[in-house]
Amino acid sequence: MKLPLRAQSLGYRETTMADIQEAFIHEQLLERRERLEAAIASSRANESLRQLLDEVDSALERMKAGGFGICEACHETIEKDRLLADPLIRYCLDHLTAGQRRALEEDLQLASQLQKGLLPKRHAVFAGWETWYYYRPLTLVSGDYCDVVTYQNESEDVYFALGDVSGKGVAACMLMSQLHAIIRTLIASGMTLQAMVERASRVFCQSTLSSLFATLVLVRAGQAGEIEVCNAGHCPALLVQGGAVKELGATGVPLGLFCEGVYPTQDAEMACGDTLFLYTDGISEARSANEAEYGVERLKQLVASSGAPTAQALVTACIDDLDVFRAGAPLLDDLTIMAIRRVT
Ligand SMILES: [Zn+2]
Repeated sequence: MKLPLRAQSLGYRETTMADIQEAFIHEQLLERRERLEAAIASSRANESLRQLLDEVDSALERMKAGGFGICEACHETIEKDRLLADPLIRYCLDHLTAGQRRALEEDLQLASQLQKGLLPKRHAVFAGWETWYYYRPLTLVSGDYCDVVTYQNESEDVYFALGDVSGKGVAACMLMSQLHAIIRTLIASGMTLQAMVERASRVFCQSTLSSLFATLVLVRAGQAGEIEVCNAGHCPALLVQGGAVKELGATGVPLGLFCEGVYPTQDAEMACGDTLFLYTDGISEARSANEAEYGVERLKQLVASSGAPTAQALVTACIDDLDVFRAGAPLLDDLTIMAIRRVT
């Protein structure tokens, strides 16, 4: 996910984010150095601890000299997400040894399995609602977040969540699972939707991965067809009612950008046959072979006119249309689509 426009206009440029990340890594390295020195002092001479301390010192040295984050083989920049996860690495993905590459692939496989375990049931019907979703990571792991939570508190409301975490790969996957846990915990607490999202943003801000952020749409759906939507910096949710489409856009910035973010919610009533459509920018920003963007307008037209009789049929129609549009051009981002249909 790219930094959202709204954040860019607030002055959060790429360079600023990089500075914050380097300062964060520097602090982590100093802390690690202190712990290693304490461990070495308290135990008998331990060769592996000393080796680690040398590596930490060498990373701090590179930071001082301005060579931190540069691959020692090709002198290109090392992937930021990998540096955040392990500041001691000195080679980019293209220049790992065979052993390092194999270890990384095994880690990714494990992360991928763990992440799949967090996904809800693909098709669900409850309390007058029917959902279907499509979830496609660009690589083995995804920074997209997708969840359906039922009967977690006394109200019997159903919650739908869809989000997108900054960055890609394992770091984004870790943050996605953190978001999953935070939202589930908050739903169980029974607080209002707005309070939940504001709390989630504060927890993100205070977490160790504070240089990252996430967009989120969180929906509370009641048994009588009423919905409440909170959109934190995410693509607009599309409310489809009898051929008309209403955008429910962001009312706040992505989670984690500011600790004291305010997140007002929007209300709507859904009747039988109405659909709420959620998606990540993996579809709206997808590109065709001649670099055209798929765009929200095309998506709106499709969901308004598809006449799909079920949530699954609507999601499938979107994927089919995206395939026609791309005409073989590769996807560039994780992709998630969820259709929530009122069926009574
Ligand atoms: Zn390299």
